[in-house]
Amino acid sequence: MVEALTPGLYIVAGPIGNLSDLSPRAADILCRADVVAVEDSRVSARLLRYAGSDRPMVAYHDHSDEAKRTWLVDRMGSEAIALLSDAGTPLISDPGYKLVRDAREAGRLITTIPGPCAAIAALTLSALPTDRFLFMGFLPAKAKARLDTLAEVAGVKATLVFYESGPRLAASLSDMALGLGDRDAAVCREISKSFEEVKTGPLTELAAAYGEHPPKGEIVVVVGPPGEAAKASAEDADAALCEALTRLSVGKAASEVAKKTGLDRRTLYARALEIKGP
Ligand code: SAM
Repeated sequence: MVEALTPGLYIVAGPIGNLSDLSPRAADILCRADVVAVEDSRVSARLLRYAGSDRPMVAYHDHSDEAKRTWLVDRMGSEAIALLSDAGTPLISDPGYKLVRDAREAGRLITTIPGPCAAIAALTLSALPTDRFLFMGFLPAKAKARLDTLAEVAGVKATLVFYESGPRLAASLSDMALGLGDRDAAVCREISKSFEEVKTGPLTELAAAYGEHPPKGEIVVVVGPPGEAAKASAEDADAALCEALTRLSVGKAASEVAKKTGLDRRTLYARALEIKGP
């Protein structure tokens, strides 16, 4: 007879495409949990079959009502609840944060069974610096909100990691070039699946390539940190200021370009006043 698990919450990472990436420990927990909380039971049924698990599933999303969460947290007092996403690590652009928060508040045992995560897998493939990175999740769908989000992080000295979908890829890459500068980037597609593909190059080149041939499948975009070259060019700064002044006040345009280029904001403010004229 299999030994029962200690009651609590077990956060189980699943594969991001290749079922063989399910770890033996993750499979063991999925077989021994009293119940498995899942996003989509059709997707998870396949993984449970692969793991040899016959455990019952219950639907869980972060927008599940509080009553559902309370019910799960109550059950964790006497049962082992496994939390599984459709792909990869739960809570990473996936449900689970509120469940973990409430379970911790209730003093339940919480443990994780780590494993695949598309963001980390893409970083390893990108050939871009990995010593410091910022996970950005999905950018907003609307162009204005997307550019605003990019402006917030343009000055961050770290590699940026974005989740994307095929139909939006080219537009997002163009906006990244506009908002972050034409940095080196990698588009990592269908990681761990039969048609895994990585394309690298400056953002503008990638945008042009994918604009002509919109890709299928699941995608992570990795963008390198701002380079010193971006700091040097006064012409680039002028071009960025001219563009920003079409949308923003002098002060805000100077702040945005300072973040983007790493140049001094006061110098840019003075230059923006000159460009704007009397
Ligand atoms: N929790 C998952 C993880 O650990 O990576 C992410 C879930 S999020 C809802 C799904 C997004 O992750 C996809 O739209 C895509 O951007 C990325 N993704 C998932 N699997 C992928 C794969 N095999 N190759 C590339 N990107 C992937």
